[in-house]
Amino acid sequence: MKRCLLLAALVACGGAEPAAVSAPRVVSGGGAPDAAPPGPAGDAAPRAPVVVAIVVDQLSAWVAEERLPLLPGDGGFAQLRREGTWAKALRLPYASTDTAPGHASLHTGRTPAESGIWGNELPEPSGRRVTFLRDAATKLVVPDGVLASPGSSAARLRVETVADRLRRAHPDALVVSVSLKDRGAIMPAGKQPSVAIWFESALGTFATSTAFASSFPQWAEPLAGPRAIERARAAPWTPSDPAWLARHAGEGDAGPGEGDLDGLGTVFPHVARTNAAFRAMPATDALLFELALAAASAEHDPKKPTLLLLSLSASDVIGHVFGPDSWEAWDHLYKLDAALGRFLAALERRVGDVSVVLSADHGNSSMPEVVRARRPPACDGPAPPVDPYERPACTSGVRITPHELQRELKAEADKALGTRAPWILGVAAPYVFLTEEGRALPEPKRATLDAAIRRVFARRKGAVAEIHDVRTLARTCPETLARARGVPDRARPGEDILTLVCRSWSPGSGAGDFYMVPRSGSYFDGELVAGKGASHGGPYLHDRTVPLLVRAPGAVDAGAVIADPVDFTAYSRILGALLGLDAEPPRVVLASLRAR
Ligand SMILES: [Zn+2]
Repeated sequence: MKRCLLLAALVACGGAEPAAVSAPRVVSGGGAPDAAPPGPAGDAAPRAPVVVAIVVDQLSAWVAEERLPLLPGDGGFAQLRREGTWAKALRLPYASTDTAPGHASLHTGRTPAESGIWGNELPEPSGRRVTFLRDAATKLVVPDGVLASPGSSAARLRVETVADRLRRAHPDALVVSVSLKDRGAIMPAGKQPSVAIWFESALGTFATSTAFASSFPQWAEPLAGPRAIERARAAPWTPSDPAWLARHAGEGDAGPGEGDLDGLGTVFPHVARTNAAFRAMPATDALLFELALAAASAEHDPKKPTLLLLSLSASDVIGHVFGPDSWEAWDHLYKLDAALGRFLAALERRVGDVSVVLSADHGNSSMPEVVRARRPPACDGPAPPVDPYERPACTSGVRITPHELQRELKAEADKALGTRAPWILGVAAPYVFLTEEGRALPEPKRATLDAAIRRVFARRKGAVAEIHDVRTLARTCPETLARARGVPDRARPGEDILTLVCRSWSPGSGAGDFYMVPRSGSYFDGELVAGKGASHGGPYLHDRTVPLLVRAPGAVDAGAVIADPVDFTAYSRILGALLGLDAEPPRVVLASLRAR
């Protein structure tokens, strides 16, 4: 049984005849000399699984379907497709398609309603939004030591991640999580990783928090400390293959709707002048891969299970600034593909064969300017185009700027009730938050406040489709969810928005007071560059359909493509199987979660 668990990364246990364990694949090539991989198959002690789980932030299924086949044959994505299975439509069955809910859902197999992770940020009385994972009981930890400022933690997470389960089963297992964002590192890592580090752009360094460690990992400092970041930031971003870009990416480099983040500009070459702008650079993906390699070199023990968690967010920042159709987005994917290939080769030189699971926390849609420019003539005919990802082709949406909306809501509330107290705390998509005074208003004054809020949204009904009062959700969601489709059918298109909202709203989790549902094609502006770029966060298929690639020789089919939608729990269940925590083989998981 023990051997069965340990070999689960390579063979399906309890199924048919187990496949022979192959010798580690040795890849020749450049780069620094690496330690020799562990001994070949047949050694007395079987090697514990090494699993790499990668989340590419904002890599939508429609982008993957359109672009992965266009990437070079020697890149990382081609390798994953050749050696593994590509499920084209992993379906998130909830409305709040944002980073923290997405990472939490993938890594726990639970919806935001169950995990308690309903959003990315919270509004403060100052109007500023702070990270949802901020935890006043913790402090930030940087290479120089422990800071006075509060850190982030997984305290809000109500369920276990796969990493938590691994550490419970094997307290000595290595779990390392790296990301540009606290949520990208922490939601996969759970509550007790070996290491969880992320980039703090305000400080210009990677950091962890006292929730996870009292000091910054030594092996990470040469790559992730302030001096290393300054060096990495200095390199300009130029396209890898301008001819490939011109061939595939359509319109020119300076497309309408592209933003200029802190002087990054809208055309190549891009130079990051600030740490916030650095997050848009493809170089950050390479940096995160280097960190994972450094962790493996420093901490990997072939006798203990290893789980490397990477959340790559340059793609998200690029989407928010330049949009998914930009030359920048195309070049980023090209560079990510090459970096992924180099990373897998280098990692396997160090640790032997690894299994890889790659997906995304949410999707996205084209910017309104792009939708307008590409509007097909069929829109005016008798059969307007129908898109399998519900991307609007004929009507473009608008950006809803949270800060403007917040000002408007406050003004309307003050007009209705006077300024005796602030009534609206703020807007942090997908919620409007009331202040304590606003929540405590007795009837009929509370009804007056509600009516003021609804007046604001009535004026914006071209952009916001629905507003749900959470007091109503509390009454209707139990029944709505009881009636909702189960697994795997909830992966199919066609669920109603209320069901998707109910799977997003989490009672008693500090969520806001009104859940806002944008219209398809419209979205809450990420405000990296206000009024520019693309976003996500809606209940439509383009936002909640992401790719899943699994490369695990013997455990999934090589070169297979699954076009039917697959329930999102496939991600955590496959990870659990590859780590030897669950007996159900990944191939069976994929078949059982496939909706037709
Ligand atoms: Zn985003």
